[in-house]
Amino acid sequence: MSKQNNLGLIQVYTGNGKGKTTASLGLAFRASGHGFKVCMIQFMKKNDDYGEVKAARNLPNFKLMQVGREAFVDLANPESIDYKLAEEGWELAKSVMLSGQYDIVILDEINVAMAAKLLDASIVAAFLQAKKNSTEVILTGRYAPAEITAIAHLVTEMQDIKHPITIGIPARQGIDF
Ligand code: ATP
Ligand code: MG
Repeated sequence: MSKQNNLGLIQVYTGNGKGKTTASLGLAFRASGHGFKVCMIQFMKKNDDYGEVKAARNLPNFKLMQVGREAFVDLANPESIDYKLAEEGWELAKSVMLSGQYDIVILDEINVAMAAKLLDASIVAAFLQAKKNSTEVILTGRYAPAEITAIAHLVTEMQDIKHPITIGIPARQGIDF
């Protein structure tokens, strides 16, 4: 079947359970098989050791960019560099969403950046609502702001029932990163 383009919706993967970033990567994998061009921008992350960073190098239809720093952001008390990087990420995200070069744009952890007030959720929501092109946009991360879920067409909330961290199993290669 030839490639159809009925894209252009806004999707949100949020909640406190595991699976938000990996769901968006699964979608990227699926879409790239149909020849769609996918771009993921990871907010608040800078790490070459993530499996998705390495795998993206082998997938011609999938481009991944990181716009954070190596240390974790203190969400209650972000540093000025965190505001600067989030703003740079948002400028990059806007240009990518408007470029027409990508069918699907994934803004990974942007919900957390908005919840921590590194980005203004109402500005992001207004941009997404005004964007009328056929680029599908996926926003991931806990604490999706109400302004974003209000304008989204699809919202999935991952619910934490159990996570192995509670029995002392830390983040695992290939599973968590
Ligand atoms: P993943 O990247 O595995 O899809 P995620 O995007 O849903 O996870 P984040 O909130 O971005 O989750 O957190 C990323 C890291 O935190 C992952 O290592 C993940 O396993 C871990 N994590 C996710 N949910 C939980 C939870 N409920 N309790 C403890 N750790 C969690
Ligand atoms: Mg995530």
